[in-house]
Amino acid sequence: MKIKLKACATIANLVCGFDILGLALNAPYDEMELELINEPKINITHLDNFNLPTKAEDNVAGVALQALLNAYENKNIGFNVTINKLIKPGSGLGSSAASAAGAVLGANQLLGNPFTKQALVGFAMYGEALASGAMHADNIAPCIYGGVTLIRSTSPLDIVQLNAPPMYVTIVHPQIEIKTSEARAILPKEISLKNAVTQWANVAGLVTGFLQSDYELISRSLEDVIVEPYRSKLIPWFDEVKLQCKAAGALGGGISGSGPAIFMLCKDEITAKNIAQVMKDIYTKIGIDFNTYVTTIKSDEIFFSK
Ligand code: ADP
Repeated sequence: MKIKLKACATIANLVCGFDILGLALNAPYDEMELELINEPKINITHLDNFNLPTKAEDNVAGVALQALLNAYENKNIGFNVTINKLIKPGSGLGSSAASAAGAVLGANQLLGNPFTKQALVGFAMYGEALASGAMHADNIAPCIYGGVTLIRSTSPLDIVQLNAPPMYVTIVHPQIEIKTSEARAILPKEISLKNAVTQWANVAGLVTGFLQSDYELISRSLEDVIVEPYRSKLIPWFDEVKLQCKAAGALGGGISGSGPAIFMLCKDEITAKNIAQVMKDIYTKIGIDFNTYVTTIKSDEIFFSK
């Protein structure tokens, strides 16, 4: 019994929703294959060249699968997992979440769907704890549910799927390394009431903008007064990228997850492609290698093929 799937990249935070909002992308994605075996083992093989650990307890896919197996009645089963990682680790595009979420989604399908999506998020979060030291779900939840998700609470888990109007997503991934742990460590432990009010007004505005397909409200609400002022310093030319992309017609955007990838939301494909060119021009000029993606929000679940 084998299954193949695409485990999608995700954008966590969505500018103002630090740790609580995320969206699923149609590109890039990892390719995974899972096979159900009749012994209590998890074997992991990587077809990519990222030198990720293959010991199950050190790989996020292995840790997530172990959490699922611990909750499953039959203790005499296991999985062979093959991962072809196309989402670069440490990009801010949910590379670790894709492996953890993809693994539990594939396993659940092979077992005849005994677990709810919320339970799968709970298992996959153990992978995130391994990767970044925090049990956060803002990449895992959109990867498992598709579309835009709100994580109202992680303990107990309370995930809300949000409708959103059609949008294009343009991403630039400057090839520099930012450690998630470092990007977390530079954040202030306390924030002012004034900034908190601005931030929750923007989160409420963004969610309402999504639900009412109000692009202007989405655009106005894509502002972050709490995290971006600190994290943007880690990304060369961030302010310039944001300024020029908005001048070229982007609704808005910011740091994807903890960076260094930057994303912009747009209403139409032509603008999205123009924005990719703006991003390319900036990073070519300053001589930093980069990748760009022009994609859309992945509204369905992970794609399976037997
Ligand atoms: P991203 O935001 O791209 O997911 P993170 O920094 O959160 O990046 O996670 C990457 C970390 O997780 C790296 O330290 C990597 O070694 C570790 N890791 C372990 N297993 C995997 C895996 N299967 N896929 C990606 N990263 C993994």
